[in-house]
Amino acid sequence: MKRIYLDYAATTPCDPEVLKVMEPYFFEKFGNPSSLHVFGQEAKKGIEDAREYLASFIGADPSEIIFTSGGTESDNFAISGVAHALENKGRHIITSAIEHHAVSEPCKFLEKKGFKVTYVGVDKYGQVSPDKVKKAITDKTILISLMHANNEIGTIQPIAEIGKIARDKGITFHTDAVQTVGHIPVNVNELNVDLLSLAAHKFYGPKGVGALYVKRGTRIETFLRGGDQEKGRRASTHNTTGIVGLGKAVELCRAKMDEEASFQIKLRDRLIKEIPEKISEVYLNGPAQNRLPNNVNFSIKYIEGESILLNLDMLGIACSTGSACTSTSLEPSHVLLAIGLPHEIAHGSLRISMGRWTKEEDVDYLLESLPKIVDKLRAMSPLYDKK
Ligand SMILES: *Cc1c(COP(=O)(O)O)cnc(C)c1O
Repeated sequence: MKRIYLDYAATTPCDPEVLKVMEPYFFEKFGNPSSLHVFGQEAKKGIEDAREYLASFIGADPSEIIFTSGGTESDNFAISGVAHALENKGRHIITSAIEHHAVSEPCKFLEKKGFKVTYVGVDKYGQVSPDKVKKAITDKTILISLMHANNEIGTIQPIAEIGKIARDKGITFHTDAVQTVGHIPVNVNELNVDLLSLAAHKFYGPKGVGALYVKRGTRIETFLRGGDQEKGRRASTHNTTGIVGLGKAVELCRAKMDEEASFQIKLRDRLIKEIPEKISEVYLNGPAQNRLPNNVNFSIKYIEGESILLNLDMLGIACSTGSACTSTSLEPSHVLLAIGLPHEIAHGSLRISMGRWTKEEDVDYLLESLPKIVDKLRAMSPLYDKK
């Protein structure tokens, strides 16, 4: 059976070129990068090279990069690290209603510890208004955290503009750029951010490795206490193979990103145009233009997202109902509720996310299969019957 992967927003396959450069670090160059002998120094060189590639890719200085275990750790590090470093200055945090759980859960935890958190709402396209953020600021605000692009509906936020507001007020500004790094241009100076999270497995690197950019001078509490790795801010023996792989993944994206994005935009816009032509009562979630090149998200009325997903899976097509992290719970996505969808429509959503190995034929196959599945499911749906 044909198998088609259209869930790149959940994770990407590792590029074979990435694996190739990782391999020697499992065997010949396996030393502990903190060791002084040549085994250690070779490993250290691999890490420092990766740090330089990444820093230059996002417009940072190598000393501003902290390697972590992935997006979740980078987000937790940024939020709890800044909250604890600045709690004597104020205990108010601003974030949005559509953040990834890796941001919203640490915020909720801080609320239990006495912090106040404002969850700014979004418009029907999932857009955060800079003006609303500005109005939410108080003299106790110490941190603003807003994602660069949403992982479910692909909306790209006006980060540079909000960053400027934060900077003018002297408030630390974090962005979760896990969905954008390697997919669209990300430059920490242009975005006016103090902290930025990223994860290698979302841009063709290995899983379990990521980074947090911390602008020089930003106050942040140590996350993992122990050895003096990452200048003591994040102890534990480096994940050398992962970090080297992240560096190579960055290099590949630097070379391929523009071309890949324009091809994906072509496929994306074809899906956005043709799905409503082939299926009645479908609604695009997120904006038509200002969205990730590889993201399409539709609500399909009268049926459940899970049923669509399982039926697509039987035809060898892998998509998502929104975010992989919530796919085991039956609660509709907080993102779809935040853009104002009623529960029953939020339940019938489908996310299609493309990537490096997506072909035009894959989109053809999806466009051929999806209407048949929807017809079949609607024929069985009591909601559709009553129409
Ligand atoms: C995937 C993702 C994360 C979590 O990253 P992990 O590397 O899986 O921990 C955080 N934020 C966003 C926006 C994501 O898409």
